[in-house]
Amino acid sequence: MSDEPLLSVDRVDAGYGETQVLRDLSLSVEEGEIVSLVGRNGAGKTTTLRTIMGILTPSSGQVTYRGEDVSMLDATTTAQRGVALVPEERRIFPELSVRENLELADHGGASGVDSLSVEAALDTFENLQARAGNPGSSLSGGEQQMLAIARALVGGADLVLLDEPTEGLAPYIVQDVMDIVADLNERGITVLLVEQNVHVCLELADRNYVINQGEIVYEGTSDDLRESEEVLDRYLGVT
Ligand code: ATP
Repeated sequence: MSDEPLLSVDRVDAGYGETQVLRDLSLSVEEGEIVSLVGRNGAGKTTTLRTIMGILTPSSGQVTYRGEDVSMLDATTTAQRGVALVPEERRIFPELSVRENLELADHGGASGVDSLSVEAALDTFENLQARAGNPGSSLSGGEQQMLAIARALVGGADLVLLDEPTEGLAPYIVQDVMDIVADLNERGITVLLVEQNVHVCLELADRNYVINQGEIVYEGTSDDLRESEEVLDRYLGVT
């Protein structure tokens, strides 16, 4: 194994047309880690994930995955390398059954990345197993989040980019989703987690990056961040 990180974002500038959002942004994720990117509304978290995925192209800097420069690859090609983005809006097919949603994500291992079979995914996510024949639209918010994550695994992801997976969920479901993320990680999936909710990050992440106005302003373990009152107060509104 190389000692290079699985994912590395180096000095990236990116944005939308003339609007620069990310400024000289660097972060890295080692294989097997859960890393969080935490910041307020509009800080640039989603833009970072879109840039990693290839939905946006950096105007300078570089994104490297498994040692390959993927900065100029489109999202489909990046997905074939084993990266999956689970967007905030979860994007499942509401009219298709849970099983059909999973089957559609199954690309037959074309990427060469080991994927979870549909049956194995249903075994992993008990709530989904019980609702395999029900339409996606009948799932609760938390179950839709689980289905979106399960789709990423069936699609062969080994790095999952999660955009605010707990957004809008009832507190007891937040815990379920956190348990699922921790479980995935124990099975070897690497996670880059974007959150506004620092408590989720502190519980789940090995390391955290705090983003403010498109810039990384802090990096530290969850133990360090928990003690960093000034960072929590200034950038995350938590005291
Ligand atoms: P949120 O939690 O609200 O999703 P975020 O940290 O994910 O916040 P981004 O969605 O990355 O933030 O947005 C960062 C900045 O980029 C914001 O100022 C936002 O208005 C701007 N922005 C986002 N999408 C676009 C777009 N399509 N065109 C122009 N500006 C955009």
